[in-house]
Amino acid sequence: MSFSAVIFDFFGTLTPSTPSGIWDEHAARSAAPLGIPVEQWRRALDESFPERAVGAMGDLPRTIRTLARRCGVDPGDEALAAATAARLACQRELFVFRDDALETLERLRRDGLRIGVLSDCTIELAETLPTLPLAPLVDAVVLSCQEGRRKPDPELFRQVARELDTPTGDCLYVGDGGGDELSGATAQGMTAVMLRAGDWAINDAHAREDSWPGPFFSTLSHVVAAAGDPALITA
Ligand SMILES: [Mg+2]
Repeated sequence: MSFSAVIFDFFGTLTPSTPSGIWDEHAARSAAPLGIPVEQWRRALDESFPERAVGAMGDLPRTIRTLARRCGVDPGDEALAAATAARLACQRELFVFRDDALETLERLRRDGLRIGVLSDCTIELAETLPTLPLAPLVDAVVLSCQEGRRKPDPELFRQVARELDTPTGDCLYVGDGGGDELSGATAQGMTAVMLRAGDWAINDAHAREDSWPGPFFSTLSHVVAAAGDPALITA
């Protein structure tokens, strides 16, 4: 028996971990044009993640305007445009892949596997993903901000499997554990494996399954052999 499809989480899995200091620096860059103190702006961003991740705040300019107002600032058009551009530039710096990510996807495709991406993300990734080098390598992309639901909502896992035209039991799910995704995938019949790379400990991730008792990979490239031989997956 082998798998028919592999589903990857995006942040901290296909991309490197993001330490808290990066979020602070990014918050500073979009706070500056708005004249909002960095700590207050970072808090507004963090606290609104549940809304932004289900697409409840609209496009990026509208999101920034709403958050600025929550901070007591009504930005002019120029400040809003500058903050929006800064935010998008910062986010795009996070859409950079691990050294072995694209090669791993190419090898899996050569082996005949279908590839899915399932991400809890905000509008910035949804707008940018079609332009990333990842795009031609994946068969299905399911994003929380477009679906209006977040991991571990069972429907997200079922949907990506449906889009891959693959029963959930034939899917291997790989993620760093954010949003209780490994338990969520397992509950839908997938085989879930944690990516516990060298930078795993420094990630500032949301609701991560740090005590995941199941199997893990230390690099993405290990997925290739395991996808063809599930006996290689052991806790
Ligand atoms: Mg993640």
